[in-house]
Amino acid sequence: MRKLARVLPQAWRNRLRAWQLRGMAAWRDRAEAAQAPLQETAVHCRFCGTAGARHRVLGDVPLTHPGPFRQNAYRLLHCNVCDVVHLDPEPGAADLSTLYEDSVQFSDETYSGDAQALRVLEGYGRRLDRLGLVPDAGQALLEVGAGLAWISRACKQRRDGVHTVAQDVSGECAARCPWVDHYHVGPLRSLPSERRFALASMTHVIEHLTDPAAMLAELHARLLPGGKVYVTAPHRPPLWRAGDGIRPWLRYEYLHVPAHVAYLSRTWFERVAAGLGFELVGWDTSHDGHQVLEAVLRKREEA
Ligand SMILES: [Zn+2]
Repeated sequence: MRKLARVLPQAWRNRLRAWQLRGMAAWRDRAEAAQAPLQETAVHCRFCGTAGARHRVLGDVPLTHPGPFRQNAYRLLHCNVCDVVHLDPEPGAADLSTLYEDSVQFSDETYSGDAQALRVLEGYGRRLDRLGLVPDAGQALLEVGAGLAWISRACKQRRDGVHTVAQDVSGECAARCPWVDHYHVGPLRSLPSERRFALASMTHVIEHLTDPAAMLAELHARLLPGGKVYVTAPHRPPLWRAGDGIRPWLRYEYLHVPAHVAYLSRTWFERVAAGLGFELVGWDTSHDGHQVLEAVLRKREEA
């Protein structure tokens, strides 16, 4: 199987991995009791802003981080209007700061091992090339929630004249990224706003935000007309459909509770894009075995 996978195109490899993951989950589920039909509830949707939006109650999800947290019980809701799957209740500010301020995220092997780092870098580089997103020499890139700033590194590698600006609330990586021209430590709103960017990127960042639309609005203001936003984020378990319920989520490698606040959808991106003066020009949910979404937004010229 692995040998076969090596000669297949990337799209087929992702499909194959999705079916493998789904098949393994189905096999394990056979021994378990049949699932009760999903309940529905009408609540305000924090993501599309619809009052009394019908939501499917997918079920309870356990914490995946040791905490300690004030809020320990969460469930996943699926909005019928915007198709977003989100944590309920919304994690509080104190618990989010427990997650991010007290933890060191980038010290493990996954991020520091050379071979692994090069694979990640190559992966992003390939995507930027395929999508034609590398800014021209003299233009600028803004990498939000940058960490080790893979997108800046990939852009610099391809075009030395790209000006790279990275932002992160944590300063733990700032000194380790010589491919970043300006590493801003602090919230994005504290970055001076004069410069206009050709590209803004958020790779595995947007799923952590309690108000992702506000972040896209902020990026819109900082982009050149025609500038683009590149987003990657967890989407949902491989080839999941609403009727599949909670079980695939409990085995989903990207289920992080309470760190991942929402699993966004194409419908959500289209709605928000239209409201902010963007258009959704790229959408692909096949990444990492159909578990991760990639979205490209383009700022309208007249905006
Ligand atoms: Zn909604």
